[in-house]
Amino acid sequence: YKKLTKISEKQAVAGQLAAGIAHEIRNPITAIKGFLKLIRVEQEKPSSYFSIIESEIERIEVILRELMVLAKPSDLKYERLCIDSVIKKVLTLMESQALLNSIEVEQNLLFSNIHISGDENQLKQVFVNYIKNAIEAMPHGGKLLIEGIQCGEKVCIRIVDEGGGIPPEVHARIGEPFFTTKENGTGLGMIVSRQIIKEHKGNLHIFSSSEGTRIEVTFPCYH
Ligand code: ADP
Ligand code: MG
Repeated sequence: YKKLTKISEKQAVAGQLAAGIAHEIRNPITAIKGFLKLIRVEQEKPSSYFSIIESEIERIEVILRELMVLAKPSDLKYERLCIDSVIKKVLTLMESQALLNSIEVEQNLLFSNIHISGDENQLKQVFVNYIKNAIEAMPHGGKLLIEGIQCGEKVCIRIVDEGGGIPPEVHARIGEPFFTTKENGTGLGMIVSRQIIKEHKGNLHIFSSSEGTRIEVTFPCYH
């Protein structure tokens, strides 16, 4: 495996700006969506363009939702969180997607009742993003391993997949907003997750080979 990632300062600032803009755009988009619905019901034979407009609006909403996670540190709600329960909640959320893709999920949390200080929604988003990528990397099925270990004052969570890995030309561009190799990707998951980890004083390491990818996230424990 080759080590790939470093967190940059400039990206943090850019992310917060993006989150602010996303927040501002959300309300007008909601209004547009509502009025579009009203116009549609007024039509006797609604044009097929309506569904195109609606699905494009939906895509804008997905992007806004992802960007809004890059909130200012002052907007975060830090709590004492039990890390294994956060991971278990995320796995419940992702279970159906894994099943649909013939992915066997192995959970190996070698600790219980370890706490960290964090914003629950943001931390969930981090794990959702990595698990989603892992599932998407294995279109023909495979094994997804979620492992948790405690080492001293730190807790480390690994997300390991058996996908095709991140090729060099792709890993060079990870961290570039909107860079995606997927037809329906947003290219925001990696950058958003990295930013949240940084905000939580955590560390991120990405290892990848043609045999698969291993994401390691480390957070300081909180007593
Ligand atoms: P998206 O998933 O919307 O494409 P991300 O920021 O989550 O955006 O990921 C960016 C790109 O990084 C992906 O398009 C993919 O090429 C690559 N990538 C991320 N995680 C993995 C993984 N586990 N295995 C292989 N490639 C990955
Ligand atoms: Mg993704």
